[in-house]
Amino acid sequence: MIDVATFGETMAALRARDPIRLGGTMRLSVAGAESNVAIGLARLGHRVRWTGLVGTDETGELVLRTLRAEGVDVSHARADGRGPTGLILFERRIGDLTRVIYHRAGSAGSFLDAADVLPALDPPPRLLHVTGITPALGPGPADAVCTAVRTAAAAGVRVCLDVNHRSRLWTRDAAAEVLRPLASLLSVVIASDDELELVAPASAATEHERVAALLDAGVSEVVVKRGADGATGHTLAETLHAKARRVPVTDLVGAGDAFVAGHLSGLLDGLDLAGRLERAVTAGAFAVASPGDWEGLPTRAELGLLDALPGSTLR
Ligand code: ATP
Repeated sequence: MIDVATFGETMAALRARDPIRLGGTMRLSVAGAESNVAIGLARLGHRVRWTGLVGTDETGELVLRTLRAEGVDVSHARADGRGPTGLILFERRIGDLTRVIYHRAGSAGSFLDAADVLPALDPPPRLLHVTGITPALGPGPADAVCTAVRTAAAAGVRVCLDVNHRSRLWTRDAAAEVLRPLASLLSVVIASDDELELVAPASAATEHERVAALLDAGVSEVVVKRGADGATGHTLAETLHAKARRVPVTDLVGAGDAFVAGHLSGLLDGLDLAGRLERAVTAGAFAVASPGDWEGLPTRAELGLLDALPGSTLR
């Protein structure tokens, strides 16, 4: 049985060492919010399936090969010739400020539709994870998310949404129009504090009211990510805050996806809210302390590494 099914667009990712307009060396990898979560979960020992479309090109092969190598099931992912594999460029501009450039309009991934993802939910997984990025890619991906969420919820599968608003892909109003109707079908909502209003009812005016409205609508757990300030988890029974782990910041990109992987891992393991948040902030810290979106994510055996004394060598 698959523990977590997820789907979305995974792109080829190029990371520049220098400002892109100056040229120079770039490192090739892959990046996508949902596949980052899938890799994080696979490293923690869970059975994960990622579904999506890549182009019939070498970068598409790279995406599938990378996910396979990380132990992610890609049996329902496929190459589609209607567009190329998307491309994302990361440029470290100053300090830890990263600039992202997308070449994803018209990509193969933007042709994903419900017919591509429904077979991947049969037999039903324990959890379905979706993000608010996928519905921003076009009408097919939006329908895929809405149909998958409805289908999974009807089958009793817990659904997690990471709101992950991407303002370069769609407006806040457009996001709210798609995400709010899904709220009552969700078990876990994960959002940054400025994203909660995109899934909570428009009538809720404060974070407190938004959380209360979501819990009232049937969401079991609302988790608010606060970057270096950690995260707050809310259930009907309790509200807990977890501090971020103190680590040297190498690359902030991917922290949110690592956090989601840690949290869902805790949920699958039956940890209580404190345990889930602890695993989430630990995975988030691994992501910020290592380069790349997902490359530095911990295996289960490595979760305790952050407790080693700074500067120590593990022999
Ligand atoms: P992104 O979209 O860049 O992946 P996000 O906005 O979704 O990130 P954040 O709130 O920035 O998510 O980070 C998620 C979690 O990662 C935080 O709750 C925290 O636990 C951890 N984290 C983020 N920044 C830091 C940091 N500077 N130091 C330690 N942990 C961090």
